Amino acid sequence: YRTDYISLDQVPVWKHSGTVSAKPLYKANDDLSQKISLFRGDITKLEIDAVANAANKTLLGGGGVDGAIHRGAGPLLRKECATLGGCETGEAKITGAYGLPARYIIHTVGPIAHGSVGETERRALRDCYYNCLRTATENQLRTVAFPCISTGVYGYPPEQAVDVALKTVREYLEDNPAQMDRVIFCVFLKSDEDLYKGRLPAYFPKD
Ligand code: ADP
Repeated sequence: YRTDYISLDQVPVWKHSGTVSAKPLYKANDDLSQKISLFRGDITKLEIDAVANAANKTLLGGGGVDGAIHRGAGPLLRKECATLGGCETGEAKITGAYGLPARYIIHTVGPIAHGSVGETERRALRDCYYNCLRTATENQLRTVAFPCISTGVYGYPPEQAVDVALKTVREYLEDNPAQMDRVIFCVFLKSDEDLYKGRLPAYFPKD
């Protein structure tokens, strides 16, 4: 029994109150907003169906969130990953979660941007979110958490990545409303928490 694990009922559903600068792009108060959470903390502590990993093409582990996930899961994760033949940018591959409290890990490889993004990178980042959700659904997984894919070492500007993440999840939930119970945006940095708080109301309005 671990006391530092965080179960789904400890992660509040997204709501906003007060003044927000973001103009809603969608009709207010639809039920999709109730399937969203913004959580700031360590993704490796979440006791949910699946956590997404911002991996590299080898799938053999790296720094950042990938390193944290491999450390938490333990060496059997690397062993399973080594059987997968790597992963292309924008694609997703599922493994067990071993020492993590989540049930599965969905590995995806974000685009390398180094500060500047064009349509290719945008499209690839979209594919990451979409293919992770599709993979979750194919495996009957209903609660999924995402880190801020590509915005660390891969250099995708966080203020542009946030819109890709929110728009893609919004679209997926619209197309597959019965398949997913909760999507958690697991941010690690205060600056990302602020970005998501600013942009979430545009995609997931609530009253
Ligand atoms: P990438 O190579 O795709 O850019 P990084 O791991 O370098 O991936 O960064 C992606 C994001 O993951 C960054 O916002 C970073 O702050 C965040 N991050 C790092 N460790 C964790 C963690 N344990 N849980 C959640 N997010 C994390």
